[in-house]
Amino acid sequence: MNINENEIAKLVTQVLQEMTGGAANTSYSAPSSGGAIPKTAKVAMMTKLKHFEIQEYPIPEVGDDDILVKVEGCGVCGTDAHEYKNDPFSLIPVVLGHEGTGEIVKMGKNVKVDSAGKPLKIGDKVVTCMIFKDNPDITMFDLNKQNVGGADVYGLLPDDNVHLNGWYSDYIFIRGGSTVFNVSDLDLDSRILIEPCAVLVHAVERAKLTNILRFNSRVVVQGCGPIGLICIAVLRTMGIENIVAVDGNEQRLAFAKRMGADNTVNFMNHKGIDALTEAVKDAFGGYLCDFAFQCTGSPAAHSNIYHFIRNGGGLCELGFFINGGDATINPHFDLCSKEITLVGSWVYTLRDYATTFDFLKRAIAIGLPIKELITHRFKLEEMNEALETNLAQKGLKIAYIAP
Ligand SMILES: [Zn+2]
Repeated sequence: MNINENEIAKLVTQVLQEMTGGAANTSYSAPSSGGAIPKTAKVAMMTKLKHFEIQEYPIPEVGDDDILVKVEGCGVCGTDAHEYKNDPFSLIPVVLGHEGTGEIVKMGKNVKVDSAGKPLKIGDKVVTCMIFKDNPDITMFDLNKQNVGGADVYGLLPDDNVHLNGWYSDYIFIRGGSTVFNVSDLDLDSRILIEPCAVLVHAVERAKLTNILRFNSRVVVQGCGPIGLICIAVLRTMGIENIVAVDGNEQRLAFAKRMGADNTVNFMNHKGIDALTEAVKDAFGGYLCDFAFQCTGSPAAHSNIYHFIRNGGGLCELGFFINGGDATINPHFDLCSKEITLVGSWVYTLRDYATTFDFLKRAIAIGLPIKELITHRFKLEEMNEALETNLAQKGLKIAYIAP
């Protein structure tokens, strides 16, 4: 019998796991994808605006608290598109990609559980969330939740001597102190969708704070890009069914219906805000909505949405991840006299991230076509094309998929 080194490592890991009840105290490596861990890893480094370059770097020594992950895939986010076009966060040179997932191929002896306390072992599929370098006391169980704003995130880190800092790579180096979750029970497509879905789980949590969102609520979701479509899915998994989707693209509106919108309104077919408001009302059988989610980055869309909401209704604005300019509203008519409760939402908390794993399972279980959001798949060498596809607003979710 000819047992190779990897197989021995696997056996050792297995035996140790049995002895320790799941938490393997080992730094043996055993990539299930076959072959030993290479000495170097490739990254798609963005070296200037609109330009990725494949670069190769040595894989650093895995320390006692570190995890080396073989990347399986990563979504392209609107944030990546902004970075690619304008570098608003001044990160160049940078390895982008924060919606990534992969398999643990090596880990330090101190790594035993993930950020939720679930055992971690070689071969497990993981995602990363925030890195609280300066604030190690924040956990997902912290009720004084802090959203990701201000924390570091893999895929939005400036380059350093490790280089393997983003998911647009074939290996990523997860340092001690990072949050990491074991999501081995989700398939690759679902894992790629975790990060954008967490944005909506958070937005709906924010919306719930208004106490206006209920089972029978009439809800407008304005904007049917991936964010708006996932918003509809989250509402559906909560049992909210009276949803009207508003967008200017028939294809996206058709997808919104499949995702669970009861009715749709194409704003291109209605001239002026009064006509558009009437169309939204008609879509609800003659009523304004109780609650609205604004999921576009358009200031005009923010101004319009107040008109669709009844007196005493609520609004969650989540479309402006970056500065999209000023929007005009009339505080008297839009907010005060109608007594609208308005909440803003931005990214997510660690707790939302963990909630998202269950959301994805529920969405799939009730037959929502959530995985069909991934419409385009590219190789690492094709990241320029992937980002151009995103900028051209072709398809919905663009993803890098490792070979
Ligand atoms: Zn993202």
